[in-house]
Parts: sequence; structure tokens; C-alpha cells
Amino acid sequence: MPGLEKSQKIYPDSVKNNSFCPICSGATFLSRVRSYELYQCRQCGFAQVLRKTGKDEIKGIYSEDFFKPQKYEDLATLNKENERRFNLLRQFINQPKANVLEVGCATGDFIRYAEDEYTMWGIDVSEAAIEKAKKKALLSGPRLRAGFIEDAVYPSGFFEGIVLWDVIEHVRDPLGLLNRLCDYLKPGGHLFLSTPNFGSWAARLLGRFWWFMTPPEHLSFFTRKSLEYFSEHRLNCRLVSWESQGRWSNVGFIFYKWKRIFPRLIPTWWLKLFQLPLTRNWAFYVPTGDIQYGVLEKL
Ligand SMILES: [Zn+2]
Repeated sequence: MPGLEKSQKIYPDSVKNNSFCPICSGATFLSRVRSYELYQCRQCGFAQVLRKTGKDEIKGIYSEDFFKPQKYEDLATLNKENERRFNLLRQFINQPKANVLEVGCATGDFIRYAEDEYTMWGIDVSEAAIEKAKKKALLSGPRLRAGFIEDAVYPSGFFEGIVLWDVIEHVRDPLGLLNRLCDYLKPGGHLFLSTPNFGSWAARLLGRFWWFMTPPEHLSFFTRKSLEYFSEHRLNCRLVSWESQGRWSNVGFIFYKWKRIFPRLIPTWWLKLFQLPLTRNWAFYVPTGDIQYGVLEKL
């Protein structure tokens, strides 16, 4: 993809098996983003960071810091996003109090938003976030839990819906995760996800400077083609709805993202300026079109 520096290195031994795309078996090429290498499929556009991220490192990334106010507690922005996501669910799940699982539920804002309509369940790797979620959503017991999805056991075919908002890009093995989640879905149930659109003009134009190109937080990048191919050939699903949109954001969040990419350009005091009570709710719609919303139906 333009903007990405093509690596001269040959594949290290450990990743020889990755020289073909795990989704469509297309040929891949390597590029470099700061100190990370990522391979990208020529055929479906799927891309993934090579270096393995251990469980301890993941817990480190998603410590309390990750859920700081400028990112996740700006209510004006959050409610606009939640409303959009909730409306998407209602297009596909009409049954009141249907069981819906949110994977990567963070501090429980979406669960609280959707709880009146559905019986919400949530899981997140961050214990700190789950503690907050329990207080906010007034839920306790097995419906909210901290941990990795691979350690959680839900009954097969139990959920009408499973949602993953901005989750699969953080995951080392998104294909394994989605496979497992499909097992928890009822036939005819729906899996809802949002993730940065690696095929968007913003991603193509900005290359390794794209705001979502932030390893090791983000590890896996999907295009519409890769999602479609994966749903139909690797899962027993069909992609029944897809669109790519911009997002509601607040000024502090945008500067936070820029600081991740250009640490020296944005001073820390600048970020703090946008955490003040007056400025932290400044929200506006950014029409980047680089966030894709997909709905998969289990066949
Ligand atoms: Zn591919």
C-alpha cells in the first residue's frame, strides 16, 4: 500500500507460514511501521503485525490508563456512538430481552445503553474496567466478567447477538476469536462489529501515518473484502450489512491519537487542556469514512 515502506527483509523463520494470507490464502508482502513489521495480503487486503504480543503485555496496554477520561468517558461522544450502534442491533434483533454478549465491553457504557432492551452480558480483559462496568450497569455475577474470551465458557448457541465494537483490530488471532464466538451464537443470530477500514481512502492515503496504525494496540487490519471472504469461507456466516463511516469524536481524543503517532509533536499539557470540564465534551463528526460496521449472520 502506498505510504508503507516496503521491507527488504525476508520472512523470519517463525512467520514462514504466514507468507500466505490466513483469510484468503493470497500472497502477502511485508511492510514496516516504526519498529513493527506487518504483512499484508495482495488479494483481500488483510494486514497483521508480526510480533507476538504476550498476555502480560496485553494486560499492560489495557491497564487503567487505557480507559482514561479523554478516551472513553466523554459522554456526549459516547452516547452518539452508542445510539448508532444500538440502532444497528435493533435492525436485526427484535426479540425483547434477547441475550446479547459484548466482547471488550470496557467500562460498560454500551451495556448500560442497551440493557433496557436486551439481556446484556459483557467480558473484558481489564479487571479495572469490569469493576467500573459493574457499578455503572448495576450488573453483577456471571453476566459481567474480566478475562480472555478463550478462558470463558458460554453455552453453545446461547446468544442472539454478539457485539465487538472496535475489538478485532486489537486481537492477535481475530480469526480464532470470531470462530469461537460463532459457536456461542444461535443459528440465525448476528455478530456485530466495528473496526478501522484498512481499505478506506484515509488508510490508503496516510499509510503508516494513518491514525489507526498504532501497534501494538492495533494488530489486525481488515478491508471489506477480507471481512466478506472470511465470513463466507472461514465461518459459517454471511455478511448481511456493511458500511463505512466517520465517527463522533472529541478534540482530546484526536490529539491523543496524534500523540501516539508523533509523540514529540504534541506536548502532554496540550492533552490535559482538553480534559478540562469545559473542553472535554467538545464533540464533532469526523467524516473520514474509515470505520466499518459489519453484521454477520450465522447460517
Ligand atoms: Zn487475503
